[in-house]
Amino acid sequence: MAAPPTVRFAPSPTGFIHIGNARTALINWLYALRAGGRFILRFDDTDLERSRREYADAIEADLAWLGIVPDLTCRQSERMALYEAAAEKLKRAGRLYPAYETAEELDRRRKRQQALGRPPIYDRAALKLSDAERAALEAEGRKPHWRFKLDARVVHWNDSVRGSSHIDCASLSDPVLRREDGSYLYTLPSVVDDIDLGVTHVIRGDDHVTNTAVQIQIFEALAAAAPAFGHHNLLTDAGGEGLSKRSGALSIRSLRESGVEALAVAALAVLVGSAEAVRPVASLAELAESFDLADISRAAARFDEAELRALSARVLHHLPFAAVRERLEALGVAGPIAAPFWTATRGNLARLDEAAAWWGVVHGAIAPIVEDRGFLAEAVACLPEEPWDEKTWSAWTATLKTRTGRKGRDLYHPLRLALTGRESGPELAALLPLIGRLRALDRLSAPSA
Ligand code: GLU
Repeated sequence: MAAPPTVRFAPSPTGFIHIGNARTALINWLYALRAGGRFILRFDDTDLERSRREYADAIEADLAWLGIVPDLTCRQSERMALYEAAAEKLKRAGRLYPAYETAEELDRRRKRQQALGRPPIYDRAALKLSDAERAALEAEGRKPHWRFKLDARVVHWNDSVRGSSHIDCASLSDPVLRREDGSYLYTLPSVVDDIDLGVTHVIRGDDHVTNTAVQIQIFEALAAAAPAFGHHNLLTDAGGEGLSKRSGALSIRSLRESGVEALAVAALAVLVGSAEAVRPVASLAELAESFDLADISRAAARFDEAELRALSARVLHHLPFAAVRERLEALGVAGPIAAPFWTATRGNLARLDEAAAWWGVVHGAIAPIVEDRGFLAEAVACLPEEPWDEKTWSAWTATLKTRTGRKGRDLYHPLRLALTGRESGPELAALLPLIGRLRALDRLSAPSA
């Protein structure tokens, strides 16, 4: 049997994560869950200007809400010595070289290449500099950035999602691994960490396909075995636009605050754009059971918030009491009837917090709607004695039917209006025993409005 995999989710803490980032996190989590592997949360925070600890903390909280609890959390900002060592190694091997062009110079060169109909690939002018020329540039006050010298060859890998894949590195510019100010771009630290932390499977969005070819060359240059790579499709919003950390609206944070169920977010984030139908699930473990990277389609998938809200309601309708008990308690729904109350009302909820209003209907003071005093007096007269159960309603209404000759809506609706003060709601057979005889009598005998 193969050793259990180690996967990682590597967000840069520069904003809240959105549904598309959550998709990457969940796909990794389910992959690890299914195979009994490890999940690492790695914050790619080498960009000190834009990274914030508050965002890292928020991402951790959002992942926890989704049900993701990492086996290990680490921050690239605390691992700089490893990157220094790797950069030195690459330099010694002649694979990392200093380049002095400014952004404007590079831009001008690119435009010239394009005008000549050539691909805008970095021309490696820096490699041709003599020691004296380099010294002169440095004396001018220029600081180098550092580029990885790519081998001009085709890199192949067997993508866990997309199958046999390749990129011709001869068509790429030598990537910058380190900026003028000494800070690292994400490319090298990611490889160094994947080696150091024993990552076996890199599963990420297909916006990283080109990076993979580059990174495979870096793994090789560092004499390490490359992990397996899988690239999943990206999500767009309902209008087909890509999601961005800055857009905010589809952040996990805002979805959570709007009352959406975490399991609905997870099910939709994972199942949309896959071979499996979007469906409510009772747990991440259930989602993991049938999860297969090969089921993910290549085309971008649309995320539709209306679909999420509908799915969230369906998730709620099936959740067992044990799964919601604490959240119900926080709404004041507690005590011996909380469990049957949940079973009676969950099918009528779009959001969990709506349970509080139904709890009020069962437990609190309501304003009964009284339309026909005489009929309700008959109903009181044949109201059974307690104990009550879910058969009480049918026994009572059968008697009432015989006494009054009413049937259907004429029989049931006035009772619902008086007992709940509402036009519609959960099955009265289930609600009646929860309301109890004392309250029922009170409501049925309320004066006409
Ligand atoms: N920080 C990178 C990102 O958020 C990580 C990509 C990767 O998984 O390697 O896109």
